[in-house]
Amino acid sequence: MKVWVDPERCQGHTLCSIIAPDSFRLSDIDGTSSAVSEVVPALPADQQDQVREAARSCPEQAIVITDG
Ligand code: SF4
Repeated sequence: MKVWVDPERCQGHTLCSIIAPDSFRLSDIDGTSSAVSEVVPALPADQQDQVREAARSCPEQAIVITDG
């Protein structure tokens, strides 16, 4: 599983870090998000579910998940 936040789309709504606080980090400067790690093969299943939920909830559809 890989997670990437598109900086062109992210508007800093913070929903992702509320839903999956261990997986997304918010910028102190503009509040935009980035993935803590873009490659997360060892994430426990419940955290993977949180990341998927965050991606579904992002109003800007800025979170890109690829499996494999
Ligand atoms: S929910 Fe989407 S727009 Fe909001 S901070 Fe996270 S990635 Fe950015």
